[in-house]
Amino acid sequence: FLDRIETFNPALNAFITLDRDKTLAQARAADAKVGAGGTANSPLCGIPLAHKDIFCTQGWRTSCGSQMLANFVSPYDANVVEKLAAAGMVTLGKLNMDEFAMGSSNETSYFGPVKNPWDVSRVPGGSSGGSAAAIAARLTPAATGTDTGGSIRQPAALCGLTGLKPTYGVVSRYGMIAFASSLDQGGPMAKSADDCALLLNAMAGFDPRDSTSLERPAEDYGRDLEKPLAGLRIGLPREFFGDGMDADVRAAVEAALAEYRKLGATTVEVQLPNSGLSVPAYYVIAPAEASSNLSRFDGVRYGYRAPEYDDLTEMYSRSRAQGFGAEVKRRILIGTYVLSHGYYDAYYLKAQKIRRLIAADFVEAFKACDVIMGPTSPSVAFAFGAKSADPVQMYLSDIYTISTNLAGLPGMSLPCGFGANNMPVGLQIIGNWLGEAKMLNVAHQYQ
Ligand code: GLN
Repeated sequence: FLDRIETFNPALNAFITLDRDKTLAQARAADAKVGAGGTANSPLCGIPLAHKDIFCTQGWRTSCGSQMLANFVSPYDANVVEKLAAAGMVTLGKLNMDEFAMGSSNETSYFGPVKNPWDVSRVPGGSSGGSAAAIAARLTPAATGTDTGGSIRQPAALCGLTGLKPTYGVVSRYGMIAFASSLDQGGPMAKSADDCALLLNAMAGFDPRDSTSLERPAEDYGRDLEKPLAGLRIGLPREFFGDGMDADVRAAVEAALAEYRKLGATTVEVQLPNSGLSVPAYYVIAPAEASSNLSRFDGVRYGYRAPEYDDLTEMYSRSRAQGFGAEVKRRILIGTYVLSHGYYDAYYLKAQKIRRLIAADFVEAFKACDVIMGPTSPSVAFAFGAKSADPVQMYLSDIYTISTNLAGLPGMSLPCGFGANNMPVGLQIIGNWLGEAKMLNVAHQYQ
């Protein structure tokens, strides 16, 4: 894998930090565990993977795709990193991403865009675009990602992979650089549902260092992979099949649904009447939380500091003005505005109320079905520059993924054929609360 990275990464820009010595040392340690007399306690022992650069990795640079952290070497491991290392997995390096995970195309990274290996003139999706491109190009068999508003599922869809966003609270956020804390959730990206199940088994679990971590017994997320689908009820939200989806995406999704009916599932129409409000609600709530979370980057304790300033205030403002890119500044401005006195009730509080309605819609819909299906993204991977000039167009890439985050529910994307220009299409499965094993079962039976 290291050799493949050396050969192919320059054209893709998926990896932004490599350390061959560190990787090989981890690999040797894993070999020792599985070698004669060794005690490999995990099926993942010795398998390489790479981390989205939002996860703190001790001794490796952790940049979050930003100039602000371009010189930051983490003194500790994120819980997810710790857990995958404990399973014997070997870190190949750190993966490019949209700056602070804000984006849907990987064009906002300080380290430059990531190319989609299926067609290098197109985006890989975002914000976990480096993770998706690296797996699609076989530079790593698996990667971590984070999903605040679709950032695991959408790049998985655009690069022809399987990705899973767990129920909020299943995977610890400790050491995962915060974007919007009430929405952020880490998860696995790989080639198949069974790989994702193995990875999730290692990543999930209660962590007292994350105040929203769910305290519950461990489960085997792959336990139902082989269960037949006869009797499965698939909910199809009317709102996901209206205008807004490209014809090629619709055709691939419909074909996958036909396949599911052959496997014994039935489809029922359900309604998510408030899902049209998910993008506006998200783009109030996520920036609000981001404006607060990103206030810690002040040039004092770590990260970028402007080289010249006259006083403390100027040091703060110059460090932030120079260290953050345009999209991050836009989010900070929006977030500060919607939280400010006089606007809080009109925007932030209103968005929170809409969030509650969106969650209630899912509760109602799941009375009639076991899983919900629809497209992951309204289009296949688009060309560089196609949406970057118009933030609203870019934000609309997230119309099918964001309601899941607002409701705290698990979601997956899996490949379901090809659309225009032979680019991959993703089928989205949304599970009920803690319905990961069911989603993985449903995905695996199709794969
Ligand atoms: N595209 C969304 C945004 O820009 C999603 C980001 C994410 O899930 N990290 O906010």
